[in-house]
Parts: sequence; structure tokens; C-alpha cells
Amino acid sequence: MSSSTEPRALTRAGGAVGASWGLGEGQAIPWEYAPSREARDIVAIRERYGLVIDGREVPAADGGTFVDLDPATEEPLAVVARATKADVDRAVRAARRAQRRRWGNLPGRERAKYLFRIARILQERSRELAVLETLDTGKPIKESRDVDIPLVAAHFWYYAGWADKLEYAFPGRVARPLGVAGQIIPWNFPLLMLAWKIAPALAAGNTVVLKPASTTPLSALRFAEICREADLPPGVVNIVPGPGEIGSYLAAHPGVDKVAFTGSTAVGRQIGQLVAGTDKALTLELGGKAANIIFEDAALDQAVEGIVNGIYFNQGEVCCAGSRLLVQESVVDVVIEKLKDRLATLRVGDPLDKNTDVGAINSRAQLEKIEELVASGVAEGAEIYQPACQLPERGYFFRPTLFTNVAQSHRIAREEIFGPVLSVLTFRTPDEAIEKANNTEYGLSAGIWTEKGSRILEMARRLRAGVVWANTYNKFDPTSPFGGYKESGFGREGGLHGLLGYVRLEDR
Ligand code: NDP
Repeated sequence: MSSSTEPRALTRAGGAVGASWGLGEGQAIPWEYAPSREARDIVAIRERYGLVIDGREVPAADGGTFVDLDPATEEPLAVVARATKADVDRAVRAARRAQRRRWGNLPGRERAKYLFRIARILQERSRELAVLETLDTGKPIKESRDVDIPLVAAHFWYYAGWADKLEYAFPGRVARPLGVAGQIIPWNFPLLMLAWKIAPALAAGNTVVLKPASTTPLSALRFAEICREADLPPGVVNIVPGPGEIGSYLAAHPGVDKVAFTGSTAVGRQIGQLVAGTDKALTLELGGKAANIIFEDAALDQAVEGIVNGIYFNQGEVCCAGSRLLVQESVVDVVIEKLKDRLATLRVGDPLDKNTDVGAINSRAQLEKIEELVASGVAEGAEIYQPACQLPERGYFFRPTLFTNVAQSHRIAREEIFGPVLSVLTFRTPDEAIEKANNTEYGLSAGIWTEKGSRILEMARRLRAGVVWANTYNKFDPTSPFGGYKESGFGREGGLHGLLGYVRLEDR
């Protein structure tokens, strides 16, 4: 994909540039850092992995397997057992037994001990988990190390704290577990999505059968090891990697009482249909096309950092990514200029390098989806800008991309790209900003940048989005609920709301 802008004359430390170090005409400050690669050998990846059912690692019933790749190198990481329907049946039976005979009857304070133990082991093994997650997803190590894994542990600490306080959680009501939860997670934050789902489920006395995404099964399998290390009773957590049809079989399974899904709106819709007419509980956390709204009175340098974090964090493979930038017309030129300058400093490449800002796209299929949508943006008349960074020769990489002259009707302004691609639109008045921000079938998140508190409150009230960040973006906390409106799904994960999704409330 070529850039419409001439490459800047980037200088490199030690490069063949004169003594000015790039500060002369048309030259930029040298931003290159020496490579600083995280040690890969902190994580031992076996050649083969089985399914985890009833506390044991087992092959698939038909012996089937699939190969899991490192998206940054396209090299195989491991061969993983591919669950069959018979395996899902076994896993659901094991989860049911564990729930009835053991887990569901344990006093909350005993369940809490297991969850605290898991949280502690997650923290102790955080470096290993960060490297594993980076290898499997392609996300930069500084994100898995500083965001994903700390949040994973925080979710277990937080919900461990609820396990023995369920009788106070919902005043006047008794909270009972639902039973067996069937959970299907995506590939963009594999371990974090697992934590969002497993921690509240277990705290409330449910057991779990979880299907990870086929491109990122390894951290869920490692989590099963951690459960064993924490002496979690067999059958409480079962992991069944396998294709999408195994996910739908799990969701439709009569032995499952609660279905929790994070992924695309298309699959979420199918799961909704499978569950309709049954008495299963359901939470769906689906796609998004969030507006990040910049008013002229905002601290613009800070806002530019928020825009970058909003769309280039995790290569933009984030359901709540701020993929539509709405800038007040009076400041659009200065914001675009600052953004282009900032994009030129983003380091794209080896996800294990601690300096990398934008890592690898998770799969070839996802890369092709991004390329197709970006091509549609060009074809529909938007203006593309990409910084002149060099991409690694192998692996699934894509340049941070900025589109200006975007119309609301363009596909890049309507469809979830799930990649490092920002579409810039403008507005004149707060009403117009609201109109444009809400002009989407999604409703997961939004951002507002202004110095006026009253404007933040008014805008947040009128935005149809589950999460609204003000003068910041992509901030997560286990105490805070997360979820969407409209085609972004329903139900909330995180906080007390997240617990509510795993209990049946009865009168005292
Ligand atoms: P999917 O929705 O297909 O995948 C999410 C999870 O659902 C994976 O575990 C997947 O398994 C599983 N799955 C796939 N098909 C079914 C099915 N019919 N029934 C039950 N489970 C199923 O997302 P994709 O990976 O195909 O990504 C496509 C797009 O979805 C992305 O470009 C992005 O726009 C959006 N997406 C949104 C996410 C979010 O966080 N909201 C996360 C991921 C994607 P398997 O991996 O084996 O196919």
C-alpha cells in the first residue's frame, strides 16, 4: 500500500547523515532506538497441546489437530488438539459434575481462596505470560506486559473479593450460580477476555467450558496449567480449542446455562439465534465503530496522544477502538498536522521488541480484511496518509494509516476495520458531533476531548455508547462495567454488573 505523502528523510542513529543529526531542512529528529528484544526463552512452548477436560490434558476424540502460527514470523508455534462435538459433550459433563458436586457448594470464602491463588500465580508468571501472549497475537510486548497481563491479574483479584461477599452484592436478594457457562473468546486480547469471563463466573459458583480463538489458543491452555498449580478442582475450568462450529455447538449445548461471547457482530447474531427460546442467560460483546470527538478547546497535544492510543493500540484490533475521529472544523488542520508528525514516530515491527508501538496483525485473514477496506477507502475518494516506515519482510504487518476527506457514507467510516486505520471527519457544533457520532449501527464506546466539564457531561449523556472516556481513551479497570448498545451487543462485563451476568437472583 503506497503512501500519498513523500517519505520523510528519517535519520538513523549511526546512519550516514551529517553532523546535524537530521535537524536540517526536511529532516526529522532521529527516533530510531537500538533493538531491545524481550527474551523469548522465558516461555517454553511445547510442540503439542491437548484439550483440557476434567483437569486432564487429552487429545481430541478423533485425534484432530491444527497448527497455531506466530503472526510476526508466520512460523508454527505449536500443534493444538482440535475439539470435536464429543469433546464438548465431555467437557460440559465434567463442568456440570464439578459444579454440582463441588464448586457450587463451596462456601464463597473457599472459592475466593482459589481465585486469590490464581491471581497471585498470574502475577508471578506475568513475564512469561506476556511473552506468550505477544508471540501468539502479534501485539507489542510493552502492551501485553503493561496492559493485558496486569489487567488479567486485576480481574482475578477483584472478583476473588466478591466471592465471599455475594450476599451483600445485591441487597435484599440471594445470588445463586447459574450452573455451567459456555464462553467463546476472540484473538485480540485472549487472556484478558478469558479473565473477564472466567473470574466472575467462578466467583459466583459457576463452572466453565471455554473455547479460545483458533489463532490464539496458547494463553488459555497456559491458564489451565495455572489452575492446576492453584489446585482448582478438576472440571471447574475446561478449555476446548477448535473451529467456529465448535463454538456454536457449545453455545447451543443443552447442558450450558449461560453463554458469553466476544467477537464479531455476525457471529454474535448467530449465537443470539441459537440461544433464543431457551432459558440460557446470554451476554454478547461485539464490534464497534467509536467516535473520538475533539473540540477546539481541547488540549490538542494531549488529544493527539489519546487519538494515537485510541486507534493504534493493539494495531487497532480493539472492539472499542476510536476508529472515527471527529474534529471540530476550526482545529482540523493543526490536529492533522500534529497527528502526521506523531505517526512518523511510531515504531512498527517485531512485537517482542520493547520499543515497538505497532506489532503484527493477528492473521493473514485479518490483514486481508484491513487491506480490502483500506483499498475501498481510496476507491471511494478518501485521502490516505501512511508514514514511511519499513515493514518486516515476513509476518502480517500493516502501516498506521490515516484517512482524511472521509464522508459518512464511506465504508471506512461505517464498517469495523479492526486494524490501525483512522478515518477523520469534521463537525462544527456539538449537535453535529452527536449526530455524526451516533450515526452508526454500533454503540460500544466514544471519546470526548474538551476543557469544559459541563460539555463532557452533556455529550456523554447524549452519546449512545456503553463506555464514554473524557480526555483519555482505552482505560480499563476491573471495577468498571464494559459493554455496548445496538449491534455492539448487550450485557456488561466488569464490576458488579459483570457478576450479575453469572447469577440468578432470588428473593430472600
Ligand atoms: P469471530 O467472531 O469469527 O471470532 C470470535 C470467536 O468466535 C472465535 O473464538 C471464533 O472461533 C468463534 N466463532 C467463529 N464462528 C463461530 C460460530 N459460528 N459460532 C460460535 N463461535 C464462533 O471473529 P473473526 O476472528 O472472524 O474476526 C472478524 C471480525 O470480527 C474482525 O475483523 C472484527 O471486526 C470482529 N471482531 C471483534 C472482536 C471484539 O472484540 N468485539 C474480536 C474479534 C473480532 P475461531 O477463531 O475458531 O474462528
